[in-house]
Amino acid sequence: MSIAEAAEKDLRQLLAIPANYKVLFLQGGASSQFTMVPMNLLRGKGVADYLVTGSWSKKAVAEAKRYCDVKVVADTGKTKFTTVPAAGELNFSKNAAYVHYTPNETIEGVEFPYIPDTGDIPLVADMSSNLLSRPLDVSKFGLIYAGAQKNIGPSGLTVVIVREDLIGQALPVTPAMFDYKLHMENDSMYNTPPTYAWYIAGLVFKNLLAKGGLTAMAKTNESKAGKLYQAIDASGYYKNPVAKECRSWMNVPFTLPREELDEVFLKEAKKAGLVTLKGHRSVGGMRASIYNAMPEAGVQALIDFMAGFQQRNK
Ligand SMILES: *Cc1c(COP(=O)(O)O)cnc(C)c1O
Repeated sequence: MSIAEAAEKDLRQLLAIPANYKVLFLQGGASSQFTMVPMNLLRGKGVADYLVTGSWSKKAVAEAKRYCDVKVVADTGKTKFTTVPAAGELNFSKNAAYVHYTPNETIEGVEFPYIPDTGDIPLVADMSSNLLSRPLDVSKFGLIYAGAQKNIGPSGLTVVIVREDLIGQALPVTPAMFDYKLHMENDSMYNTPPTYAWYIAGLVFKNLLAKGGLTAMAKTNESKAGKLYQAIDASGYYKNPVAKECRSWMNVPFTLPREELDEVFLKEAKKAGLVTLKGHRSVGGMRASIYNAMPEAGVQALIDFMAGFQQRNK
């Protein structure tokens, strides 16, 4: 109980979470939230707006379609998910129960440089791959969720931050385990919680606070990403296809000049101690995921390796 309390208190401090928001520590991953969000937040309405900016938002749409009329208000598929919609281009449905978007598309490496203004419509964000990477104004959101395994802690834990007034109107068919109200009333202990993952997440929160909180993390993350993009752009060899204003701080995809070099790159990188660099098969090439846990020295080691590889494989 004390571990759970400390974890919540520290997360609230890190993100300055307002008092009218509940913090839930759940299971089922971000993927379960693709279902729990419509089941709980439709609140008698039949329409929800979704922004499609990459692989994860597409999955969220596919799931929501089971429960409501999904209006895709923006889709950057035509740019192969290398851009985000312009803030001024977004026209939300008057009767939308909520607007869902994915602030950081993990696979494509696209991150919104702004928070969409949805007026009175609750904004829902899948922050699985960028929560805790920088300070955040939680009050702009109706609900934020994140699978823990990228920036928070071990897999098996899902963090949900939800405005109190949105809880309590789940669809009648909602399974008990998918009802935010039940989890809220039981302090996220309605059933046996993932205790070990919760414990580790609590240690991560303490560690981030000790490092200076999210302002300090933002400084490091911006510097890490900036260095890597700079090296890619200046190389005349490696390429990142994402528009400069929406390049992710967390996930940096890049390609080599010839596809047949991919294998060699991965093999030599592994020998140099640089692993899990293979890009998602839908994008190809490489992807460096440089979450909070990756130190600046790790990014520098990758940059140095990339420069050497380029020299050897002109
Ligand atoms: C990893 C990821 C998911 C899937 O998370 P699970 O916890 O495996 O369900 C969903 N959305 C985003 C943005 C992700 O990065």
